[in-house]
Amino acid sequence: MRNMVKRPLFLSIDLEITNICHNICRICPRQAIKRPAGLMGVECFDALMNFLHGFNPILTLSGMGDPLLNEHWDYFIHLAKSRGYNIGLNVHPASLRSEEIQNRLMEAAPNRLYISFPGLARESFAYVNPTIGFDESVEIISRIAESAKGRFGIAVSAIKTGLDDSNVVQSFKAMWKDKGIRANIYDCHSRGGHLCDTGLVCTRSPGWHKRGSKTCSLFLFHTFVAWDGSILACCHDLDGQTALGHLNSLTPHQLLGLKKELISGFMSYRLCKNCDEPLRYLQPAWGNELVSISSRKKLFKILKDNL
Ligand code: SF4
Repeated sequence: MRNMVKRPLFLSIDLEITNICHNICRICPRQAIKRPAGLMGVECFDALMNFLHGFNPILTLSGMGDPLLNEHWDYFIHLAKSRGYNIGLNVHPASLRSEEIQNRLMEAAPNRLYISFPGLARESFAYVNPTIGFDESVEIISRIAESAKGRFGIAVSAIKTGLDDSNVVQSFKAMWKDKGIRANIYDCHSRGGHLCDTGLVCTRSPGWHKRGSKTCSLFLFHTFVAWDGSILACCHDLDGQTALGHLNSLTPHQLLGLKKELISGFMSYRLCKNCDEPLRYLQPAWGNELVSISSRKKLFKILKDNL
């Protein structure tokens, strides 16, 4: 049996190129964000490219805001790809309505496009997403998937909420399968205990997992960079309590060293005590295989599927 990987690794980075969003989804604890609102500028993205020199993590434009509100989103994708990075984009279907955005998306061709789909049934989707309907979202995603064929990969990141019966899962999967679109389904969690509408949560309570939570695998393998270049320990940090440094003041080696010190005991952040994020319990046993991008993508997929 291969050894579990227990040291921090620089496998993936979520880039919050803005924390502004107009989509008012009910699974988003937007009301609790205390970090300043803003948009990542070109200089900050350049600082990221310098910071990453010699490292090759998977990058994803994601985070608390709508990346497409940052006017530079497609420039960032072009730049990262030109430097050899694998870069994905995470968006809500309501942000993809306009033809102009869809054309820019085809032109930018991120390596991966994840479209979020919170709520598996029409009723739950309508409750969670006041700005767009179920059918319109399916229609937009289908159109984009058709145009993206042969250009980039697309997957639906669906969220099963507390309003969704288990028996809807199969029909939901079948709907996307018929359309030839991959749909991954994740349980709605409380975003570090910040979600007010607890009826939407369908993970078990913090600490449910037999394997314990002395360390957090997201913290070990994943890095979160906010729009202002701050490096936070976690994407669920809404007030900056877990700041580890800044792109301009840390090197990746220093960041990994800091993480190594911090994982010697139990996760010490206040945030972690209420965290029901399933990915914190990932226990990878892949050792050196983690060096390739494809094995990292496979790793996250397999471990998510096995939770
Ligand atoms: S335990 Fe939860 S809140 Fe703490 S770093 Fe991990 S995912 Fe974030």
